[in-house]
Amino acid sequence: MYRSIEKIISAPPFHMVGDGFRVHNFIPGAVSMERMNPIIMMDYNSKHYFPPTDNPRGVDVHPHRGFETITIAYKGKIAHHDSKGNSGIIGEGEVQWMTAASGILHKEYHEKEFSKKGGDFQMVQLWLNLPAKYKMSEPKYQNLDKESIKKVSISEHSFVEIIAGEYDGVQGPASSFTPALLMNAYVDKNDSCEIIPYSHHNTCMVVVEGSIIVNQASEVSKDQFVLFNNEEGRINILAKENAIILIISVEPINEPIAAYGPFVMNTKQELQEAFQDFQNGKFGVLN
Ligand code: MN
Repeated sequence: MYRSIEKIISAPPFHMVGDGFRVHNFIPGAVSMERMNPIIMMDYNSKHYFPPTDNPRGVDVHPHRGFETITIAYKGKIAHHDSKGNSGIIGEGEVQWMTAASGILHKEYHEKEFSKKGGDFQMVQLWLNLPAKYKMSEPKYQNLDKESIKKVSISEHSFVEIIAGEYDGVQGPASSFTPALLMNAYVDKNDSCEIIPYSHHNTCMVVVEGSIIVNQASEVSKDQFVLFNNEEGRINILAKENAIILIISVEPINEPIAAYGPFVMNTKQELQEAFQDFQNGKFGVLN
């Protein structure tokens, strides 16, 4: 039995986040925060050429509270700094995992040398919601480099790189507060493979490179998003050309969501507190 597709979504028109992230918003747009929860936001920067500049493009200092931001680079390099003194630079296939929790300020930029040379840039940013009991925990930062991300073979020529969660007995490097499987599948042209996520976990994929046939029936091309129904079953992937596929499968958090801009809490009152705390400088300082 295959796990059936609820819908296939083509990338909606892009918008700019700062001047560095040219993103198509899949969540909460075509897919609601609740439906893919606890993935409550997905911005996808399809491959785009940025010309050389001495002033790295990006998003200047801004706050977050109540969730985690996960940035996966596919092309180009991304730099990060936050008000807890954490910083990092990630390249292709690498991940920045920032737990905003009780509140943090950060900025996100194209890395300096990449900016000077210019080049293709492609990334995904996810917001992973936190359960109420962890929303006010200490912020933290995980820089997940290539060495830390484990590869698991899924067919003769294809493999997954596990960012978070366990797949086929192998644990990804990221620690998450609720069960979350995040991985990139690299499937060679004409190769086929199968992925088996938990049936009750909200599950989706994005084709980052190439084109594939899902469950021997549905063609999915580069920059398209697939949402799966929550049911038993395997996901079959046949690559028509060399493909990279981001696969996400997350255990739902059954709590109310109150969201406003960069804050995601459980109630309106908590949103007001977040805004006040931010205005009163409780999120720290970052220049
Ligand atoms: Mn941010």
